[in-house]
This record gives sequence, structure tokens and C-alpha cells, in this order.
Amino acid sequence: MDVRLILMGPPGVGKGTQGELLAERFGIPRLSTGDMIRAALKAGTALGERVRVYYEAGELVPDEVVLGLIAEAFDGPATAGGFLLDGFPRTVSQADGLGALLAERGLKLDAVLSLEAPERELVARISGRRVCEACGLVTHVRAVGDDAPCPECGSSLVQRSDDRAETVRNRLAVYREQTEPLLEYYARSETGLTAVDGLGTKEAVRDRLLETLQYAESPA
Ligand code: AMP
Repeated sequence: MDVRLILMGPPGVGKGTQGELLAERFGIPRLSTGDMIRAALKAGTALGERVRVYYEAGELVPDEVVLGLIAEAFDGPATAGGFLLDGFPRTVSQADGLGALLAERGLKLDAVLSLEAPERELVARISGRRVCEACGLVTHVRAVGDDAPCPECGSSLVQRSDDRAETVRNRLAVYREQTEPLLEYYARSETGLTAVDGLGTKEAVRDRLLETLQYAESPA
């Protein structure tokens, strides 16, 4: 099914987790600019080296870098049947750039969803987030306990370098200043914007998102 979605929301609200679930449900790729940047950092590519200082400080990387990554993804075969954008766009200029990329290809967005949660919950989620160095699992100390190995593959769980307490505050401030204006931008757009409560279990939030998209699962 052709579905083109944007999943917006502050750091720690669950965009990655929910984005995965929705993408799987619709059989579309999740395009996460954050994941693309982390892959470039890990591989030590020129692009990775160019954006490292921004990433480590919790600042946004330059608009043209992420627009280039998205344009490249749009030109690949994986996005022919739709996509879910996670963590992009994050500035008005990126949203304008996305609009141009879509228009050039004769495409339209189906929905823009905004996941919401109070700031204290975001800080708690981010500071306890752990990722597996080997298999990429994202989990939380609340689920696995302190210093536990990855429950999937047994490798080490680590904290993302931009999840440290001093960087988290900056990421939240950057979100408020640079990304929050996009909520109004999309609310006024032809597609519109739907806010969804991001609190609760991951299944509860997923069902809310699906209901919003009017593809809710029938009760078991
Ligand atoms: P995320 O994984 O989406 O939380 O992104 C982690 C970091 O990657 C951000 O704090 C930025 O440094 C960078 N980043 C990811 N997506 C974007 C974007 N659309 N625009 C600028 N910087 C981004």
C-alpha cells in the first residue's frame, strides 16, 4: 500500500520505536536521518566527520546534509511504495526542501503525526535509553536493569553519545526552538497535522497511531 507519512515529536518521545512498528505494518521503509547519521559516524565517512561536532553537541546538522540524505533515499527503489520519515524534517527550511522534493516527483504526504509527552518523561526516557552495539536493539534500563547485556544477542548495551544528560537539555531546547514551529507549519498545510498522546505502553501508543490513520487493528 502506498503510504507517505511524517512522524514528528521531541527527542525521546518514541519516534524510533513507533516508526518501526508503523513502517512494518504498512510495509514501507522508515527513513531516520538520525540513524543515517549514526551509520555515517560509525563508518567514519567524510559526511560522518563533517557532522560529528553537531551531533555530539545535540545541535542540528546543516539542512543541506539531511536534505541530501533524503533525496538520495527518494531516488532509491526502496521508497517507491511509500515511506515513513522519522526525525526529518526538523526545520522550516527542511520542510520546504521536502515539499520541493515531493513536488518534483509528483508525490503527496498522506499524514503528519505528532507524538507528544511531557518534558520530564522525555528526560527519563532518554537518560535511561540503551542501545546494543552489535544488533542495534534500543531498550531502557527500566526494562533490562543497570549494566545488563543485550537481551537479544548478549552484547554490550551502551548509551548513545548524544543521550548524556548535558546534551539532552540542549536537544530539547533545539527541538522547541527549531522544530516545534513545524507543528503549526503542517497544521496549516493541505495534509494537516494530528497530535497523538505518546504516553503508555508501546502497543497502546501504536494502536492510537493506527486509529488516527484509520487502519486500527480489530480487537483480538
Ligand atoms: P535523532 O536520532 O533523530 O534523535 O537524531 C540525533 C541527532 O542527529 C540530532 O540531535 C542531530 O544532531 C542529528 N539529526 C538527525 N536528524 C536531523 C535533521 N533532520 N536535521 C538536522 N540534524 C539531524
